[in-house]
Amino acid sequence: MSSPNRLRIDRTALADNWRALARMSGTAACGAAVKADGYGLGARLVIETLATAGVRDFFVATWDEARAIADLGVSIAVLHGVRPEDVAEGLPIYARPVLNTAAQVALWRSAGAGRACDVMVDTGMNRLGLTVEEVASGMLDGLAIDTLMSHLACADEDSAMNAAQRDRFAALAGRIDAQRMSLANSAGIALGHSFAFDLTRPGLSLYGGVPRAELAGAIRQVVTPEAQVIQRRCVKAGEVVGYNALWVAEHDTEVAILNIGYADGYWRGFSNSGAAWFGDVRLPVLGRVSMDLTAVDVSAAPELLESDWLVLDYALSEAASASGMSQYELLTGLGPRFERL
Ligand SMILES: *Cc1c(COP(=O)(O)O)cnc(C)c1O
Repeated sequence: MSSPNRLRIDRTALADNWRALARMSGTAACGAAVKADGYGLGARLVIETLATAGVRDFFVATWDEARAIADLGVSIAVLHGVRPEDVAEGLPIYARPVLNTAAQVALWRSAGAGRACDVMVDTGMNRLGLTVEEVASGMLDGLAIDTLMSHLACADEDSAMNAAQRDRFAALAGRIDAQRMSLANSAGIALGHSFAFDLTRPGLSLYGGVPRAELAGAIRQVVTPEAQVIQRRCVKAGEVVGYNALWVAEHDTEVAILNIGYADGYWRGFSNSGAAWFGDVRLPVLGRVSMDLTAVDVSAAPELLESDWLVLDYALSEAASASGMSQYELLTGLGPRFERL
């Protein structure tokens, strides 16, 4: 089966990005967040590539995500912890929960049967995790804790909160019986070695995302969408293109209609702002991106034919600015219709 759009995934760049992040993590081990189906790339492909490169710790959001990759035999931590429903379904032994609440701790004490777990402590983000006081209160005594972790709220900014969270987390060292401590996501790795602790947990930058300027030189693009031209037409001066006639031709313009749209994750924010490439020729998006179709100005590519392929401009920092979406959304929105190559 051949699809009219495809996603090129550069596995060498993926592995190289991990090596760069591992280097920046200093003496800490470097894992990989592969939740949301490997940030939209496909968790299996990502894990196979990264396990070969040397990754030993993988992070998913839910037990469903863990089950889907169970046969790969890698170490998996389930970030959202454990629910009574998960226990009722039988707890797979290849994954361990990251306990976030007092109720999850209690559940794991009875259902975990002494098996290893991780623990999330909230150091200021107020998303998931036990409070510092709960963690210090002895609530965790007797648990076999592999990794004590916390998560940075503003690592992609120069915020005083970064050092404050790091210091709150560091103060727990030695007070909790855990094998390892882990704080930094991709942006956190760029904040320096004092944020790395024993294990870092990058996601975004593995896949080419650049959340801080320090990472720009080290991280390469991994994902490139391509779409086939369905139709080529000349739009006469004064005519319009697309829904709501958001683009009006100032002069006669050659237009190609591509087999890609917001249902593929090529978001409406690229309307009149995205671009595609035909070789070295940049072709601007015209008008509103539809569910399954996008128009581009191909006046600069007279030799382009129907059924030719165009490469979407998808360097994540620039594409995020162009579309108003986050780099995370640009990755995790990539839909199932792409043939992943
Ligand atoms: C998603 C996630 C990560 C990875 O974050 P990136 O910003 O994608 O590098 C790390 N830790 C936790 C707890 C997460 O939820």
